[in-house]
Amino acid sequence: MTSALLSDPAQRAGAILTIDLGAVVANWRRLRDTVAPAECAAVVKANAYGLGVERVVPALAAAGCKTFVVAQFEEALAVRAVAPDVRVLSLGGLPAGTEADFTANRILPVLNHLGDIAAWQAHARAQGTALPAVIHIDTGMNRLGLGPDELDTLADDLTRLDGVDVQIWMTHLACAETDSVMNSQQLGRFRTAIGRLPAAKASFANSSGIFHGPAFHFDLVRPGCALYGVNPTPGAANPMRDTIRLDARVLQVRSVDSAMTVGYGATHRVAARGKIATIAVGYADGYLRSLSGRGHVFVDGVAAPVVGRVSMDLVTVDISDLPDGAVAPGGLVELIGPNRPVDTVADEGGSIGYEILTSLGARYHRVYRDPSPPEVA
Ligand SMILES: *Cc1c(COP(=O)(O)O)cnc(C)c1O
Repeated sequence: MTSALLSDPAQRAGAILTIDLGAVVANWRRLRDTVAPAECAAVVKANAYGLGVERVVPALAAAGCKTFVVAQFEEALAVRAVAPDVRVLSLGGLPAGTEADFTANRILPVLNHLGDIAAWQAHARAQGTALPAVIHIDTGMNRLGLGPDELDTLADDLTRLDGVDVQIWMTHLACAETDSVMNSQQLGRFRTAIGRLPAAKASFANSSGIFHGPAFHFDLVRPGCALYGVNPTPGAANPMRDTIRLDARVLQVRSVDSAMTVGYGATHRVAARGKIATIAVGYADGYLRSLSGRGHVFVDGVAAPVVGRVSMDLVTVDISDLPDGAVAPGGLVELIGPNRPVDTVADEGGSIGYEILTSLGARYHRVYRDPSPPEVA
């Protein structure tokens, strides 16, 4: 038995993750307005990119988002649990034997190959009714979706779709965040493919794809990362709002007055004198080990470098340039926030914003800021 706690969890926590649901909603509205009259879905796979599906989905549903996209069936169930009336798409196909679970929970499978289509058709026959689904056509990813041969087979024998109520034909861009020639090639292949198939709505663009213009919007866009503040237009200013802030606690500050090393592997040497702050975050929290000797934390107007190795629960930061007392045990430093955007942290760690977000740790104390209520006229 543990006893009731008297202290504040925000005081006890090694780090505090603040999630601005108002910013997520503002980002969704911005994309919705950009693509109108096309529909703007929200991709909420991987626990809404780490921000928390139980809070993100209701906030977006309240703002008018009607379609949510996940990767796996269990994730679809988690969306359904908090949003009874929205449309839920599960990208990962139809695992064997799950057909009845999809229909019972009104989850739309994204059928990725002819075997998926045949299984869905068989289930529809058994139910005696046509069943809705999305069908994925591969136009260049070579990952999921009907490849060229399967597309030919389907287009030549449309009875394979009897009983399948195709709601959306979809495909996925390989190089959306660049100006690659692949983008227009995939656009051409997708147009040709859907021209050979029965009429239905079409879905093409992820976050970055939206910014290639209206030709890429079709009927439904599927942004993920941009909702959460990752820049969908790398190389240009980020049109999205930051959605998270991560502040971690200083556990100890020590002055070093002779040449000494810091941390595991003794990878960093303090030349003669300096000050090191030890911060309560580590790779177990998703603070990537590749930020060792490369990352920065922001404190008192300065970006202080992470020195030595990121360990499981701790990082060490060189605060020699800061005035005495600027960093004190119990205080907080900014790891992610207005001065350390997600994309900057990702660059420093040799990663991408998606990985920083989806790695956000389970030990963080989470604080959600709700969207402000709509103004009453
Ligand atoms: C993850 C995913 C998306 C969202 O991509 P972002 O780049 O995060 O906007 C859209 N469509 C598919 C098929 C995906 O797998």
